[in-house]
Amino acid sequence: MNIHEYQAKKLLSQFDLPILQGKVFLEKISKSTLNIKKFNGPPWVIKAQIHAGGRGAGYFKTTFNDKGGVQIVENEDQLIKITNLMFDNILITKQTGEEGKKVKRILIEEGCKIKREFYLSLIIDRNTSQLMLMISDQGGVDIESVAEKNPEKIHTVHFSNLNNIVLDKNLQTKLDIDLKQFQDLTIIITRLLKAFKSLDASSIEINPLVLNHENNFILLDAKITLDDNSLFRHPELIELRDFSEENSLELQASEKDMNYVKLNGSIGCMVNGAGLAMATMDMIKLHGKEPANFLDLGGTANKERAIEGFKIIQSDPNVKSVLINIFGGIIHCDMIANGIVEAVKELNFKLPLVVRFQGTKADEGKNIINQSSGNIVSIDDFNEATKKVVELAI
Ligand code: GDP
Ligand code: MN
Repeated sequence: MNIHEYQAKKLLSQFDLPILQGKVFLEKISKSTLNIKKFNGPPWVIKAQIHAGGRGAGYFKTTFNDKGGVQIVENEDQLIKITNLMFDNILITKQTGEEGKKVKRILIEEGCKIKREFYLSLIIDRNTSQLMLMISDQGGVDIESVAEKNPEKIHTVHFSNLNNIVLDKNLQTKLDIDLKQFQDLTIIITRLLKAFKSLDASSIEINPLVLNHENNFILLDAKITLDDNSLFRHPELIELRDFSEENSLELQASEKDMNYVKLNGSIGCMVNGAGLAMATMDMIKLHGKEPANFLDLGGTANKERAIEGFKIIQSDPNVKSVLINIFGGIIHCDMIANGIVEAVKELNFKLPLVVRFQGTKADEGKNIINQSSGNIVSIDDFNEATKKVVELAI
């Protein structure tokens, strides 16, 4: 689960991490709702809150100046004016795609004079099963371009013992910081690791972590991804979920415990099992088309799930044909076949369907499909089935 920058900062400040004073607004502001006396500044920084990075370098659909979703202002009138121009506007960044994201929450923060910008992130390195720090003195810009142009500028550190964080002195040299800064950085990293663990995060990214003119580190941006599988331990974190930021079809699927990811192709897929779903997408690509989605119906695939799956696939206008690929294990293919036939009737599903059954009661399932009247065929062979569904996508 992703959360907003202002929510991440609030969480991190509880771990004694250096965050600037700020306040989030959920609607347009006026002199009285702003109450400027409560803010350190000028300058102030206006930060559009969307679940996507690259806001600073982004642009607004309804243009009002040549700046993006992070703007520095020097007086109260500008602060109110720009904030209100950002509200309900669409912010387009490298990470949002062309359609952009509507700005519904805005963080106003005290400004900060930046001397140096660093990149810092914590993730779990699955190869070593350890927490890993990535740090660079080339912060502020997107880290992908640093990784591409100056990979030697990104340093990694693994932690085997979270109770005793010792950073190698080499890191001080690599980052070109003095001893006091190195000690401060060690404290920040120790606290971030503590936050990572107690929030059950799956990643924390601070870009930039800055040194200000008083020689203090400040977390100027913060992105936290929480591990969905541990949210049951954190009722207070579940509340931070912003449904308006999530794809509505993906949301609909997750409410039914199905895994759906929208993609941009034209072949809808409905599969049981994540591995088979991945293989199905690969096969579609191999035959020259793109999958419209990833959809894992889960182990308990039945009629109700088939109906939900069809509904979701049907609401994507890009879909031209659908491949249903089922491996009958605990579930029986004949049961699924009946479910598919009924779902097609119930929803009046018109798109061409190719069904492939393997495993338990595959033959019985095939017969049911072949006897049904809809725009639906059953093909045993994975390769042939994919070929057919690609042909039908016109
Ligand atoms: P992102 O573009 O979505 O990653 O948003 P950030 O919060 O990282 O802001 C983008 C950039 O704006 C940062 O890298 C900083 O260079 C700059 N910025 C953000 N806050 C301040 C501030 O208080 N003062 C100054 N001078 N620059 C800031
Ligand atoms: Mn950033």
